[in-house]
Amino acid sequence: MDNVCTKCSGNPVYFRKYSGERLCSECFSSSIIEKARRTIKKHKMLKYGEKIAVGVSGGKDSLALLDILMKMQRENEYELVAITIDEGIKNYREEAVELAIKACEKYNVEHVNMSFRELFGFTLDNVLENRNDVKNTSCSICGPLRRRGIELAAKKIGVNTIATGHNLDDMLQTFMINLLSGDVYRIKQSKPYSTPKEGFEFKKIKPFMEIYENEIAFYSFQNNLPFQSTDCPHMNENIRNELRDVVNNLEKNHPGIKFSLMKSMEDITENIELKPKKLVTCLVCGNNSSSNPCSVCKTISLSEKLTKSNS
Ligand code: SF4
Ligand code: ZN
Repeated sequence: MDNVCTKCSGNPVYFRKYSGERLCSECFSSSIIEKARRTIKKHKMLKYGEKIAVGVSGGKDSLALLDILMKMQRENEYELVAITIDEGIKNYREEAVELAIKACEKYNVEHVNMSFRELFGFTLDNVLENRNDVKNTSCSICGPLRRRGIELAAKKIGVNTIATGHNLDDMLQTFMINLLSGDVYRIKQSKPYSTPKEGFEFKKIKPFMEIYENEIAFYSFQNNLPFQSTDCPHMNENIRNELRDVVNNLEKNHPGIKFSLMKSMEDITENIELKPKKLVTCLVCGNNSSSNPCSVCKTISLSEKLTKSNS
């Protein structure tokens, strides 16, 4: 095959192994924007004129999401506001917050920056310093609090659609974590988006859910988007990391296997019926959940106890 871009015959910079395409920088970027647009359309993620809160952590996925949603915007189709949650991880989150602020200035997007301290009265570092039970990994505490933080910030500014930069690899890791922990119910819940009528207060959308992680990173490089260069110091505590390697190794020898895994996940979500679990209302936050208090409220209360007992 000639070494030219499959689409425009320009100079190729990327070989998409799973499709056999060679793409020049421009055609590669257009293909990523088009993929995100198709995902939004296919799953009817957005309505005309909607206000969307974009979770912008300062990492590559969220900054690329903001960039692409800005580029996709036609005639005020939607309005964007960015939300950054600062967990309070010393020598890590500061750089990301700076990058998020600069990106919002560049796109002229309203930016709401809130910290765990403002939202919950403690930082993640405070909680982890006082943790005495290794069962509670950093991410199992931080993740639910981050999600709740974005929801609280969105509520504060009156927006009920939340977009996050979760990519295909994130979706597959979550799928496998749930599979390995015997929680098929959670897989069933992992729809392209959750809507308020299903008992959730917020509509949550993931426009990158069908795009490979390495392609988002490559898009960021090709479009000169500065993103946080260092990894979270707690990243290796998470099984996610091990699963990332497993799936990437499989993909290396079997290009396209990530899409097959995604299809299995979608089939379980859409076509397999499970005996409905009784949902109850969490009396702390008012959300529907399988337990009262819900798992997020339990994490908040545990974190409060840990920080108070040593203050
Ligand atoms: Fe929080 Fe874990 Fe992500 Fe670090 S890797 S920001 S601790 S969820
Ligand atoms: Zn709750």
